[in-house]
Amino acid sequence: MDARELTSPSIEASLEAEIQATARHLFSLIDDARPSLLSQERWQQEMMDWAMADERLKVELFRFVDVFPTLRSSREIARHLREYFSQPGVEPPGALRAALGAAGPRSPLLPAATRVIRREMLSFAHRFIVGDDARSALSELRRLRDRGVGFTLDLLGEASVSESEAAAYQRRYLELLDDLCAAAAAWPAVPAIDQASWGPLPRVNVSIKVTSLDSQIDPLDFRGSVDAVKDALRPVVRKAVETGAFVNLDLEQFRYRDLTYTVFTELLDEPEFRAFDQAGVVVQAYLRDAGDDLQALTGWARARGRVVTVRLVKGAYWDYETVLAEQEGWPAPVFTHKPDSDANFERLARTMLESADVIRPAFASHNVRSLAAAVATARRLGLPDDGFEIQMLHGMGDQVKAAVLAMGLRLREYAPVGEVIPGMAYFVRRLLENTANESFLRGAFADGAGVDELITPPAPSADHDAPPRRLPVVEPTDPAAPGPFENQPHADFARVENRTKHLKALRRVADRLPLEAPLLIDGRDRRTPGRLASLDPARPARAVGTVCVAGPADVADAVAAASAAFPAWRDAPARERAGVLFRAAQIMRGELAELAALETCEAAKGIREADADVCEAIDFLEYYGREALRLDPPRRVGHAPGEVNQYFYQPRGVAAVIAPWNFPLAILTGMASAALVAGNTVVMKPAEQTPLVGAQLARILRAAGAPAGTVNLLQGLGEDVGEALVVHPEVALIAFTGSRAVGLHIMQRAAERPGRSWIKKVIAELGGKNAIIVDADADLDVAVLEVVGSAFGYQGQKCSACSRVIVLEPAFDEFVARLVEATRSLRIGPPDDPASRLGPVVSAEARATIREYVARGEREAKPALATPEPESGWPDGGYYVGPHIFTDVAPGAVIAQEEIFGPVLAVLKAHDLDEALVIANGTSYALTGGLISRSPAAIARCRHEFRVGNLYINRGITGAMVERHPFGGFAMSGVGSKAGGPDYLLQFLEPRVVTENTLRRGFAPPPEDDVGE
Ligand SMILES: Cc1cc2nc3c(=O)[nH]c(=O)nc-3n(C[C@H](O)[C@H](O)[C@H](O)COP(=O)(O)OP(=O)(O)OC[C@H]3O[C@@H](n4cnc5c(N)ncnc54)[C@H](O)[C@@H]3O)c2cc1C
Repeated sequence: MDARELTSPSIEASLEAEIQATARHLFSLIDDARPSLLSQERWQQEMMDWAMADERLKVELFRFVDVFPTLRSSREIARHLREYFSQPGVEPPGALRAALGAAGPRSPLLPAATRVIRREMLSFAHRFIVGDDARSALSELRRLRDRGVGFTLDLLGEASVSESEAAAYQRRYLELLDDLCAAAAAWPAVPAIDQASWGPLPRVNVSIKVTSLDSQIDPLDFRGSVDAVKDALRPVVRKAVETGAFVNLDLEQFRYRDLTYTVFTELLDEPEFRAFDQAGVVVQAYLRDAGDDLQALTGWARARGRVVTVRLVKGAYWDYETVLAEQEGWPAPVFTHKPDSDANFERLARTMLESADVIRPAFASHNVRSLAAAVATARRLGLPDDGFEIQMLHGMGDQVKAAVLAMGLRLREYAPVGEVIPGMAYFVRRLLENTANESFLRGAFADGAGVDELITPPAPSADHDAPPRRLPVVEPTDPAAPGPFENQPHADFARVENRTKHLKALRRVADRLPLEAPLLIDGRDRRTPGRLASLDPARPARAVGTVCVAGPADVADAVAAASAAFPAWRDAPARERAGVLFRAAQIMRGELAELAALETCEAAKGIREADADVCEAIDFLEYYGREALRLDPPRRVGHAPGEVNQYFYQPRGVAAVIAPWNFPLAILTGMASAALVAGNTVVMKPAEQTPLVGAQLARILRAAGAPAGTVNLLQGLGEDVGEALVVHPEVALIAFTGSRAVGLHIMQRAAERPGRSWIKKVIAELGGKNAIIVDADADLDVAVLEVVGSAFGYQGQKCSACSRVIVLEPAFDEFVARLVEATRSLRIGPPDDPASRLGPVVSAEARATIREYVARGEREAKPALATPEPESGWPDGGYYVGPHIFTDVAPGAVIAQEEIFGPVLAVLKAHDLDEALVIANGTSYALTGGLISRSPAAIARCRHEFRVGNLYINRGITGAMVERHPFGGFAMSGVGSKAGGPDYLLQFLEPRVVTENTLRRGFAPPPEDDVGE
């Protein structure tokens, strides 16, 4: 029968009848004498029942499972049990309560109780794995084969955090292939699994995850990542060719999808693998555009005249993908209606079967309806039963497996091998999958849904066939109806259009260099004889451009223009002022990639960080615009009759905005736009390292309609132009972000030289000496990656950067070893190269200061990682300083106390959380801090006792987002309220109250007639 025949309505109906008949047949073969979701073991079954009955309990239960392998003693197990299950709102069932009693700190039963728990947990985890290593897996694999079940072996382990871990993973696969293939040669043949309609099948079949093979894998560096993974994979595939094994590439999170397919097709296109037909890849039916993936694969295979195996799955990362998309403001790449995934699975199964000339189909599901659809379609198309295979996960759906075998179909199990710790993420994914409300296995074997219900055809939603939205769409904001604030979505670099857009913008901007920018005074460009050169820190020989420098007369003119513009701007409706910000945001969106590219050239910001900086600038404009509208209407205060009290705000006057270079657009935009929208007029002085980025903001605000004089731009050195603004008598308000020394100096000067008739208000956001505490029970994959990101992102040049990590003793050695290796793996190079993880620092002076601290560290601590200058020097004479990590650092050491603003990290050891907190709080700063822990008690304690402006738990400590993470510290970290938060704008305003006595001759208007509500 040809493919077209399957599409007529009557054939569709008869195919549906066959699918249902096949599904009923499968169900009839299921031995339902002992129905259970996963396991016959009473304890394990009970645990699954509890999880399914109570969502809150499920979270705690699975969190306990997740942390369990890192708990090193009975006391730790007992403590975590108590902490997880005695939280408010968590109702442990009777048996668990009894276990908790036995696990009390003083209970004589404690050792025995924790022994039992350990045994049960391990036995549970072992349901899903076939062995701790290849050798121990052999007997289980033999047992599978004896039962007529094939396998595909997966070495447990998720993303590698360092190149040494990635290399070890590759080595293990090579060894595995050698060992297994040697053993397999002696196995007796099992025709059901060793033979397909197209010929013999390899006995050894392995599944590989690309993220394990390259620790620096990143879709932004698409080409580099593809090449690195191919390099790591090539010897494995070569070994498979030699040993006669099968290799499958698993599909992971969506962001690695395109990369995985490119690795797969490019590698197989290499001459040595052209004839290799024992390779496979996965298609995830939950992806809205999975049909395109399949079409591309079949097209490629046909064009090359080759055959590949495709494993069709629904997809294992559904929760992750949906949460991530929502957090980032990206369109979800997955369907959000379960029947859509099911329907897509059936549709793709059909496409695969119709392409049997180039695709060897494998259907991986535990869902009887999904499997029946594949089987019935195959039979309808005239394919023999050995022309495809069914795959299921080890430890899941055993009853369905028995039915599949009884039908005489070929069955392969996905068989993970490895230790429990690296396997925990896999284990937890399986638990979540089994207990999800929409899981087929749960419906069939736990909730007792009827067969009719379980086999009805999936009903796709109305938008099932709509072309998937690839990029977010952000409409301009109308000041009359602004709608709720939403963060500007960062570029999703898994999307090729975003990568191309940013890389093209980098080339365009580079071609336009050197740029030139005048001052802006009273709405007019002003050119002055003095020039300030802006150099590319990655190539100091390249001038990014020059800007005109302001002299004393320019400062005076700018302030005079701002003063003159003030009354009209102050009295302009808030909507008009907010409108300027919203239009500026829209202009920035239109120029986003170019603005980011300019930051890369001028501030050496990497592509991702530069994109984030422009997004943050847009966020400030959108957020403060809305805040101004919120604060504008006068508020009624007090309720006494006969009196109306109105509380409202007025702006302060001329604001001097003095900004740093490390967030060259975002911070300048944040401070300037807050001042402006509040009704102040602004004189901006960008940092001398990033004057061209600063000039863009002035241009954009002007283009957005800021009236002449309301926004003025001066350029020059801080000690000249900045100082002149600080002491100018017409300046009412100074908004500064930068170093502690300069901040304190500004406050002093502002107090010494007050305004004409006012005390100058100073808002000063200063530095930090931020620490992350790594608890004994921390997930070290998370801890290492988040510390590396927080300490070395943008070369550590962020006030929020992590410069101290305080590790609890039990985790210390392993953490430090992995941290050092992960940091060593970071590639150092120019920021416009997507492969670079670390670029140069901003200037030669900054590099000299950092080098002094490194030398200091060498004297007062032990270098755990030093990055010497390469013999041939750094590329293009850029201002590079490689990352440095010091251990044995005393809490009072200079490198543990002073802000360094560079890639230098001090690691300190603490015996317990008490000591960790003393160290963490033991500096004069209080900006950001972090805790990586899976202990609810430690988390609760740090919330209160880790005294910093922004505390981040189980994540990195940089990258605060407007509105979600209002940002700013206290102590020596600054005076001022949180940027991007609800109190920020108030600092640019003065509150006033007008009280009117409405009582005349003894009568007052009724309260509702009073104005000002
Ligand atoms: C042998 C084998 C290999 C596998 N390899 C991979 C792999 O390489 N990569 C990978 O990602 N997965 C892989 N999986 C996992 C697979 O993707 C599924 O997560 C799992 O099999 C559950 O799907 P099901 O059809 O068995 O069960 P069902 O219960 O029918 O389906 C559950 C699945 O539906 C989807 N879903 C759940 N809720 C919704 C919703 N609201 N809207 C839309 N869709 C929803 C999810 O994908 C979920 O896993 C593999 C599975 C097997 C059996």
